Amino acid sequence: MGIMYTQKISNDLYLLAEKAGPAVVTMWLAIGSKNAALIDAGFGITGTLRKLVQKITELPVVHLVTHCDPDHAGGSAQFDDIHMSSLDGDLQQTSLNFKKRVHDLSVAAGDNPLVKLYLQLKMTKAESFDFTDIQDGETFELGGASLKAFAFPGHTKGSMCFVNEAGGYAVTGDSIVARDAAILGDRRCPPLTVYRDSLRRFLDKGYGRLTIYIGHSLTPLDRDIPAQLIAACDEVLGGGTSNDLPFNSPFAADRHTPQAYEHCHDKGCIRYLRENLTQWQDK
Ligand SMILES: [Zn+2]
Repeated sequence: MGIMYTQKISNDLYLLAEKAGPAVVTMWLAIGSKNAALIDAGFGITGTLRKLVQKITELPVVHLVTHCDPDHAGGSAQFDDIHMSSLDGDLQQTSLNFKKRVHDLSVAAGDNPLVKLYLQLKMTKAESFDFTDIQDGETFELGGASLKAFAFPGHTKGSMCFVNEAGGYAVTGDSIVARDAAILGDRRCPPLTVYRDSLRRFLDKGYGRLTIYIGHSLTPLDRDIPAQLIAACDEVLGGGTSNDLPFNSPFAADRHTPQAYEHCHDKGCIRYLRENLTQWQDK
């Protein structure tokens, strides 16, 4: 499998990615004069991410996690100085479960036994890691550059974006998505109103003008999408859901996974739970 992908965006920003078939998981390496910051760590499919980062920079690396899903934090344990919202700490138990990661990736690869064997041999095995909690507004100084954490509850309770205003970009993980829908259809997710307010706050800060890098695309986000996601949320919250179709995730843990529905406003699509619009389901 030709899996790891590297692209130099500028002297101080690299895009790394795991490519498994049509699926792409992005990671971002920001480089200052004193430190580097790696945002997200993919599934950890090859187990070689740390070596890859060390080939690009010899600087100490702070590792920032947008959220604790297996495709963003699976490889995190390769690093020492890990920062993630403690609100996502509970997700480690399921997200980092090695058997489940192998299973989910094998399903995505069409149940290929060779893929399964490769993953069992190579993929980062750690099922937990220690981390330092991230606060909204916290700044990570890299020397001549900095990344500011922006809390974006919605996809998970502890989802974080990392913003380099001087550098003109924001890395949003799965908080904002292109093509597919924003995934808000799980009991772990805050109510839809919370996600809508996160989007509004993001745009109110002026971050909509930045280049927005997202979790599953090698190209920046269409700048129209955040406002369209807000419109999609408002339509659902206003009851305009009669045409929404059920969406079944291939990664659903079991048949008790609640039924999500999909709603789109132009290119801004969300998957949501009808019982999770304004009230917390699972604190
Ligand atoms: Zn993801």
